Amino acid sequence: MYEACIGLEVHVELDTASKAFCSCPVKYKAELNSCVCPVCMGLPGAMPVLNKKIVEYAVRLGLALNCSINTISQHARKNYFYPDLPKGYQISQGAKSICTDGYVEINGRRIRINRIHIEEDAGKLIHTQKETLVDFNRAGVPLLEIVTEPDIRNCEEARLFLETVRNTAVSLGISECRMEQGQLRCDVNVSVRKKGDDALNERCEMKNINSFSAALRSIEHDVARQLEIVKSGGSITRETRRWDDIVQKSVLLRSKESEGDYRYFPEPDLPPIVIDEEWLKKIKTEMPEPFLEKTERYKAMYSLSEYDAITIASDVNYGLLLDTAMKHGADAKTVANMLLGFISHIVNERAMETAQIPFDGKSLAELSILVCKNEISYTAAGKVIEIMFDTNLSPQEIVENNNLGQISDETALEKTAKAVIEKNTKSVCDYKKGKMNALGYLVGQCMKETKGKANPALVKKMLEKLLEEME
Ligand SMILES: [Zn+2]
Repeated sequence: MYEACIGLEVHVELDTASKAFCSCPVKYKAELNSCVCPVCMGLPGAMPVLNKKIVEYAVRLGLALNCSINTISQHARKNYFYPDLPKGYQISQGAKSICTDGYVEINGRRIRINRIHIEEDAGKLIHTQKETLVDFNRAGVPLLEIVTEPDIRNCEEARLFLETVRNTAVSLGISECRMEQGQLRCDVNVSVRKKGDDALNERCEMKNINSFSAALRSIEHDVARQLEIVKSGGSITRETRRWDDIVQKSVLLRSKESEGDYRYFPEPDLPPIVIDEEWLKKIKTEMPEPFLEKTERYKAMYSLSEYDAITIASDVNYGLLLDTAMKHGADAKTVANMLLGFISHIVNERAMETAQIPFDGKSLAELSILVCKNEISYTAAGKVIEIMFDTNLSPQEIVENNNLGQISDETALEKTAKAVIEKNTKSVCDYKKGKMNALGYLVGQCMKETKGKANPALVKKMLEKLLEEME
């Protein structure tokens, strides 16, 4: 039996106003080569100055991912030539990274994080049919690189790890992690070994993968490729491969370079990064609640299911709506259902951002209270929410204006229930034969008849009573 040893290097592009070592703005869609200066172009004599915000963002991420924060760390030059790297080296961190020895728990297993370090992005090559162009707007944009130990065993763990990193970075306000804009990319390294072995075998690396699904496909493909070689008596050679997601294959790029090839040395133009106790304390106090903590709090405080807690905590705006609603006396489960049901449905349908939701948690609390007091049905709450997206009216006003109050009047409900029973003889028959979901169907029909206003619990009782009375 064999097992895979998978390590990830995740690059998170930071949402700072300016670049890492100069005051050029960080803009995703700017005119080509318009956000450049002598520093990020690497002109002789230009001196870099560290953007302090990056240190704060790195510390936030390090704390959230259980790392030790090193009070002294250092920049290093990573030397290599590539047309998108005008300086001929990248400012990164070598042996002294800002955060070290962290971990993320995935399904009860610890995925160790070797380090998180600060580095700058390179420019972008644009290949046309005739020529290759280069845009330096991205050169010098700050990145954090999260390097794991090869503790990941399969694609599912890799997916959960990547999602945790993304959700954490977003919750900390350090990056929006939009993969389509290249704000989150990863390198994957894979090796295989006999189960029970401690030593690691030679690994292969796949570089610059820019979607979760491509990362997972590349892992699956390379594990299979390596197993085939190993099982037929061959051995793996260390190499860097390029994952081509279109043809679903990896191709050899180069036999793997080692750290030494980059001739890392301390960056002479930048002083060490020193974080004193006071600064660390300030960063801690100003830091937004990280994703993993928020998820645990939602489970413990609001008794939400794991799925609901993770889904809501992974979106800062949903989290804010829930927390505000809870401060105003809402029922957590009702609000969670509304967020992940009606609200996310409308957000997706209208292709909105959750930041554009036009109402606040206080209104959601008001709505959830109307539902809990049985003044409106849950279905009617969906209609209220739809109207809340288009008007400034309060839930109470919407209920009154649209006559959405719940029908709890038994005579009226009995009439509806009788009519539905008459019209749906087949379902009645099924119910009599013991098919319980036929009852659900009949309840649904009554809700439809009353345009969602009937009290569903009463309807169910009424139907059961009427069906019982029938021969
Ligand atoms: Zn610049």
